[in-house]
Amino acid sequence: MARLVMKFGGTSVGDMDRIRNVARHVQREVNAGYEVAVVVSAMAGKTNELVGWVKDGSKLYDAREYDAVVASGEQVTSGLLAIVLQEMGIPARSWQGWQIPIETSDAHGSARVTAVDGTRLLDGFNTHHEVAVIAGFQGIHPPTGRLTTLGRGGSDTSAVAIAAAIGAERCDIYTDVDGVYTTDPRIVSKARRLERVAFEEMLEMASMGAKVLQVRSVELAMVHRVPTYVRSSFDDPANPGLGTLICDEEDIVEQQIITGIAYSKDEAQITLRRVADKPGVAAAIFMPLAEANINVDMIIQVVSDNSTATDITFTVPAAEYERARTLLETAKAEIGFDRLEGATDVVKVSAIGIGMRSHAGVAAKAFKALAEKGINIRAITTSEIKFSVLIDEAYTELAVRTLHSLYGLDHAA
Ligand code: ASP
Ligand code: MG
Repeated sequence: MARLVMKFGGTSVGDMDRIRNVARHVQREVNAGYEVAVVVSAMAGKTNELVGWVKDGSKLYDAREYDAVVASGEQVTSGLLAIVLQEMGIPARSWQGWQIPIETSDAHGSARVTAVDGTRLLDGFNTHHEVAVIAGFQGIHPPTGRLTTLGRGGSDTSAVAIAAAIGAERCDIYTDVDGVYTTDPRIVSKARRLERVAFEEMLEMASMGAKVLQVRSVELAMVHRVPTYVRSSFDDPANPGLGTLICDEEDIVEQQIITGIAYSKDEAQITLRRVADKPGVAAAIFMPLAEANINVDMIIQVVSDNSTATDITFTVPAAEYERARTLLETAKAEIGFDRLEGATDVVKVSAIGIGMRSHAGVAAKAFKALAEKGINIRAITTSEIKFSVLIDEAYTELAVRTLHSLYGLDHAA
């Protein structure tokens, strides 16, 4: 029999009525003949509340106990959905991460899935003909036997990992939007729902700020080639609408050059003025940042005219800005620079599309269009299937709209 994973996010299980609605979606797929594993998040707002309590308890809390607390939200919804399914006459049972088990690293608070054993779930299908309702977001680190959680938004990753482990035909991610859009519909009214997106593109879109899926879930879907369908839990369970299929690029018939425009305000810019222009200086700057686990993204180095000094600009996550500043100021004498300038009112706007591989001048077109709108570009990075520009945050909407139209992504009317 074909197997299906269905994942429901926090708003989709926000109260008992929403949980009953989820059960009807599950019922439809069971009636269609699927063996179903459902992965649920905690009720909307629950995880935030739990995190708040932990932080109230201690500023320097024990991350293992953090996991023990925040994993509980999913325990509740998995049990409740199993009860509601049973009430509808559908055999079902709940599963905690450790019962399956979903094995993870011991990076408490953002653990990585290392292995998922599908045997017990398959046994549940074969011998009990029951729906498996799985608590998302959580796992176990076997050497210590401790509960772990997979980082915020981690239920997406649970779902894809389960789909790979049980050889599911598809992983359906039910959420409060009906798919992946060409850009954020809240700022571009002409944004369109995409029918299909390639794994590689979705990975870039998620990494570049599109918030539909946890980045790791997309990585996992790509590695295991799990077709992942993003769709709305607000659809009529008896007659659901369409969503967006994340799939192999070979399965995309009409390939655009650019598939989507993403933006991230979670960036900060640091510029070091008059850095000594000599071998080893880049290492002197970036090694300490790497050792402090600060992710550097865009880097540009300007060759200054007197050739003894240069300017280096780069970006770090906004949350790491103060830490990065302090580190660099402390190492100022060692690195040898004049002064540090920083900005947090910046945004990174990215255009993503596998079509960029086979077309020249795609980014150049954007630079021109942005210049015509008077938008100054502070930094640029490019890769095979995307380019990003760092600009003033005030121009976010204008820049996103401009690129969205430029690449023909606006919907017709
Ligand atoms: N409940 C967890 C969170 O809010 C996991 C998830 O919803 O995916 O981050
Ligand atoms: Mg989510």
